Amino acid sequence: MLKKNKLVVGTHNKGKFRELCYLLPKNLKKISPLDLKIKAPKETSKTFKGNSILKAKYFFKRTRLACISDDSGLEVVALKNKPGIYSARWAKKLGSFNFAMKRILNLLKTKKNRNAYFVCSLTLINEKGKILNSTYRLQGKISHKILGKNGFGYDSIFIPKGYKKTFGQTTKKKKMRMDHRFYAFKKLRKYPNIF
Ligand code: IMP
Repeated sequence: MLKKNKLVVGTHNKGKFRELCYLLPKNLKKISPLDLKIKAPKETSKTFKGNSILKAKYFFKRTRLACISDDSGLEVVALKNKPGIYSARWAKKLGSFNFAMKRILNLLKTKKNRNAYFVCSLTLINEKGKILNSTYRLQGKISHKILGKNGFGYDSIFIPKGYKKTFGQTTKKKKMRMDHRFYAFKKLRKYPNIF
């Protein structure tokens, strides 16, 4: 249980910040590292879980407040699970998420397998430094075109299993209740008395 009613939502990504705030209990004051003028840490781990824990520890060390952090990304099976933990870095290197999505569509032109996963690893660290983690992989497919303007990142090329539309064609509210972050959070909440 958190003693102070405050939580640092440890991400500089506005899309993730919005989604995490939506999932968290209403009574908690959510603090952005942007408000505290704290820069993002270097993501040096090779796994989502490693980077998620590294981020939570980093923000906790600087604020001594409870913190939730997320490391997430898109794994495309035919591309040996790339971009994976490099999802944000691909977009940065190529100039935008639009270019990164186009790159994925081009690389898949010769492939039959369009299976993909959106992965989210969440870490919650309380004021005492106790760490809880949960990771979820949401199955889906890569669309043949960039479709829809809702959402952020790679939303416009990801069709979750059982659906026909990309996350980019889904309302933000609906997407927040069915994505990898939602299910990772659901798993995290199974730990007793976390908030
Ligand atoms: P990182 O966790 O800061 O390394 O960034 C992960 C990157 O993965 C984000 O910048 C997004 O591009 C992408 N990503 C993660 N979650 C989502 C999502 O829900 N929709 C679309 N893209 C996402």
